[in-house]
Amino acid sequence: MNRTKEPSFRESVDMMYSRAVAVMDLPPGLEEKIKVCNATYTVRFGVRLRGQIQTFTGYRSVHSEHMEPVKGGIRYAMGVNQDEVEALAALMTYKCALVEAPFGGSKGGLCIDPRQYDEHELELITRRFAYELAKRDLIHPSQNVPAPDMGTGEREMAWIADQYRRMNTTDINAAACVTGKPINAGGIQGRTEATGRGVQYALREFFRHEEDKAKAGLTGTLEGKRVIVQGLGNVGYHAAKFLASEDGAIVTGIIERDGALVNPDGLDVDAVHAWIAKNGGVTGFPDAKHVSEGATVLEEECDILIPAALEGVINLTNADRVKAPLIIEAANGPITSGADDVLREKGVVIIPDMYANAGGVTVSYFEWVKNLSHIRFGRMGRRQEEARHELIVSELQRLSQNLGDAWTMTPDFKAKYLKGADELELVRSGLDDTMRKAYQDMREVWHSRDDVDDLRMASYIVAITKVAASYRAKGL
Ligand code: GLU
Repeated sequence: MNRTKEPSFRESVDMMYSRAVAVMDLPPGLEEKIKVCNATYTVRFGVRLRGQIQTFTGYRSVHSEHMEPVKGGIRYAMGVNQDEVEALAALMTYKCALVEAPFGGSKGGLCIDPRQYDEHELELITRRFAYELAKRDLIHPSQNVPAPDMGTGEREMAWIADQYRRMNTTDINAAACVTGKPINAGGIQGRTEATGRGVQYALREFFRHEEDKAKAGLTGTLEGKRVIVQGLGNVGYHAAKFLASEDGAIVTGIIERDGALVNPDGLDVDAVHAWIAKNGGVTGFPDAKHVSEGATVLEEECDILIPAALEGVINLTNADRVKAPLIIEAANGPITSGADDVLREKGVVIIPDMYANAGGVTVSYFEWVKNLSHIRFGRMGRRQEEARHELIVSELQRLSQNLGDAWTMTPDFKAKYLKGADELELVRSGLDDTMRKAYQDMREVWHSRDDVDDLRMASYIVAITKVAASYRAKGL
């Protein structure tokens, strides 16, 4: 294999796809049909800003409509291009299939550096972009449902939802046209941190399986594991924060645009996050060594490496120097196809993007269902559940009245047992279940087939099998 030339992001995804279908038994026509991106819409529009018209270029790519609506985020970044949105749309198809979110795959992007514009300007640009997409049904509750991605968040989603509503005043399901909205605009509890939470749940599930840990040469639990995270955006921040504060992992390195912070005793993730918000970068942060060539920290010793920023950061130029035995791809496509080969040969275990960052779209699915059902999860059942528990507890108390001290309840049992689940707890439970189930589906393929020796290939096989089944059912 030629190891000097790196393929494009889309070619890289296609190569990973082809590696998996090579061991599957798909009819050749279907193999090609699933792989190709159905359509990519490019739009150029002008917005009057600062006294003159500025032209922007945006995309919305639809990879597969085997299920509708199609789903996937909208990214704001200067590097956005057709190849990238098509690669990302393809990953959305496979990701949704893997976690059983009933969507096809789509992705959008706008070539823009959002930091160059103020809030009002961004609103004008976003509304205009949303208008261009909505008028072609590329934003629509039953056809195409965007969500946040790099450079966008709940603020942009609220503008998009409002724009769609203005254009579709009689659509009772208008709120379901986009997910990742703020709570007061039809959002759901737990969506903002969902992707980071999903990374945490994925790692917890991985660490439940001795055989899998052994493949990475790891033992024990997440407690005390050294973690290096690249990118302290929404995904990286939440993943690092939860792993450190809830699982006892030690974040020894944080890589950002202006360099990396390293501290073998552990970095305070919230303090670094606050520092970046205030100073625009990690430079000058006390309590850590600053490494100006940040990317070199990807090659530092650690137990778990979490690339949570851009695609292609681990590539043929650095893959052979990466020391982490376990990499979890919180970003989409952080490891190129060539680097994937190098790392696999070295025995590195990679928890692939398609699975690792699926927490976002999973909770998006819950939000979409909430919007369509027009009721918050838990609203009907919670108090009734509490009342039934109350009944049992008071009956137990009555029965044990005269039985002495051994029969008294532990002090906080009653309060804990009686509390019915609120929306956030239900979302977490649904996300945890989804991440566990999808991992188990992958590892089943990983361990049961001789021709599959990594999780990425297993993830593609699980996902493609599901997509193929739905094409077959449709008679295509
Ligand atoms: N942009 C996120 C992703 O890449 C979320 C997509 C969604 O929620 O639809 O998975």
